[in-house]
Amino acid sequence: MEGAVSEISRLPGIGRKTALRLALHLLREDVATSVSLGEAIINMRKGIRYCKVCHNISETETCPICADGRRDKSTVCVVENVKDVLIFENTGSYRGLYHVLGGVISPIDGIGPDKLQIDSLVERVASGNINEVILALGATMEGDTTDYYIYKRLERYDIKVTQLARGVSVGNEIEYTDEITLGRSLLNRTLFSDTIIK
Ligand SMILES: [Zn+2]
Repeated sequence: MEGAVSEISRLPGIGRKTALRLALHLLREDVATSVSLGEAIINMRKGIRYCKVCHNISETETCPICADGRRDKSTVCVVENVKDVLIFENTGSYRGLYHVLGGVISPIDGIGPDKLQIDSLVERVASGNINEVILALGATMEGDTTDYYIYKRLERYDIKVTQLARGVSVGNEIEYTDEITLGRSLLNRTLFSDTIIK
């Protein structure tokens, strides 16, 4: 019992008291309840894979978004992580595909472009079916650096590179932006080349 309580209490937002209450609840239920909960968690964790196209979390080789024939496959929105995909999906105002970088360039943290899914983004663009790449990284210094790096890598391809409109104040990370603001900054996106000081 002690082991279960201490494991449960490690989950975010759950203190020891709640963990104890959950454990006691499970003890009152059939054994089958605990077994199916345990199995569901193990299967979720072990079964998780990443989409081979966009690197979003997926239970299948290609995620449901990439596999959805009704989505606009010519537009790709570049985001920092899997959580950002959910945030954009919640706005309900985006019908294109995604590309999950897995982070942003941050020399201080030892994260160079090679540690991110940038080469695979360039390959997607090089394959020729993409018309627009939307840079949707947070308006932080690392986000800006990454935007610029990607822009330079994509410059030679005949596509539009855009960026979210910065209603999002500088320093804000995508996840702290509300859905309406985010939806609007997506609609009002600007050409990345216009944002560069020449
Ligand atoms: Zn995908």
